[in-house]
Amino acid sequence: MKILVLNCGSSSVKYQLIDTDSDIALAKGSVSRIGMSASVLTHKPHDRAEVKVSAEILDHINAVNYVLSILVSPNHGVIKDKAEIDAVGHRVVHGGEQFSDSVRITPELMTELRALIELAPLHNPHNIRGITACRQSLPEVPMVAVFDTSLHHKMPPHAFIYGIPYVFYKRYGIRRYGFHGPSHRYVSDRAADLMGKPVTDLKIITAHLGNGASVTALDGGVSIDTSMGFTPLEGLMMGTRSGDIDPAVILHIMAREELSLHEGNTLLNKHSGLIGISGISSDVREVIEAADVDHPNAQLAIDVFCYRLRKYIGAYTAALGGLDALVFTAGVGENSAVIRTLAVERLEFLGIRIDEGKNIDAIGREMDISAEDAGVRTFVIPTNEELVIARDTERIVGPEAG
Ligand code: ADP
Repeated sequence: MKILVLNCGSSSVKYQLIDTDSDIALAKGSVSRIGMSASVLTHKPHDRAEVKVSAEILDHINAVNYVLSILVSPNHGVIKDKAEIDAVGHRVVHGGEQFSDSVRITPELMTELRALIELAPLHNPHNIRGITACRQSLPEVPMVAVFDTSLHHKMPPHAFIYGIPYVFYKRYGIRRYGFHGPSHRYVSDRAADLMGKPVTDLKIITAHLGNGASVTALDGGVSIDTSMGFTPLEGLMMGTRSGDIDPAVILHIMAREELSLHEGNTLLNKHSGLIGISGISSDVREVIEAADVDHPNAQLAIDVFCYRLRKYIGAYTAALGGLDALVFTAGVGENSAVIRTLAVERLEFLGIRIDEGKNIDAIGREMDISAEDAGVRTFVIPTNEELVIARDTERIVGPEAG
């Protein structure tokens, strides 16, 4: 089947057209700066060079139509007619407590998705906008919502309940939900494949380290704990997000600086983390470069980032009661040997030991970087969330589409 995978943000649409018979992305790209001046469509067919087109793209409907037109265009297209698209899989960030799996999109489902906006006001509205745009442009094509949260649905209550009055869980759904589900699922399944064992027999920790970052503990393929919480702000320190923090700190700063709720939220989400400590950048590469030339606080930012990651690996090994594999993925996890080295420092006692030569070689490609005698396998595995979304979409619409 040919499945169009869409990931819609506030001002961007990322897409891939995936052929699930071969698992090849026939084309991938993005529309950025939607609704701003000089929107850009970047499009890469699998067998030709990337093209960039500047255009005035006012809204998500416009953006989806641009994507569809380039997919069928004589020069840059990869299909002849949009009727060749068998189904669309949409990334939806928050599935709340109700969605333990991906679901077919229906008018009733749209009502349920709108009700979830309260839980994810920064993400779900854009995902819904993308779905609405697609329903207008491809009214006959079946669509599926694939949630970031559903992998974590079986997490036990002792992992998802916060230490605040229980009534807030009942009243507002305040609990840990967890995110990055398709990525954690893809890389844990791949790690099991590489070990030649069923994922159901393995204890795996997956570290998704991108602009957003989260760690998940999977026991037999089931997420039993994950570092992001009610929102993607909790857990690891990230490029611009604080991660774990004493909640009293933000109350204190808001009182002292007379910040509004919005400003407090922006402080923790946009001005904290690597950029907050280093004052340089949220990009790990730039912070490492600055540390190399002794820029004040750059090394400190890297040390905090890696120390916290190491603590999570230790904590999740305890939560799992053992460990078979550790996986690094996403932009930082796939590309930064320095971060991987610092993250596993002093973890030999858990059986985690990496081969530095292999670690340095593993830049953006799938590799087992463990030392020969390590008790735990450590892998670098480039993530492929889109493939998980495409496969789920095929599984759900399979019998009637195509
Ligand atoms: P997103 O969460 O937006 O999907 P990615 O997974 O693409 O993010 O990761 C983007 C981040 O990856 C960048 O902010 C950058 O810090 C990091 N990154 C990319 N390449 C490297 C590299 N060679 N070394 C260190 N970090 C890198």
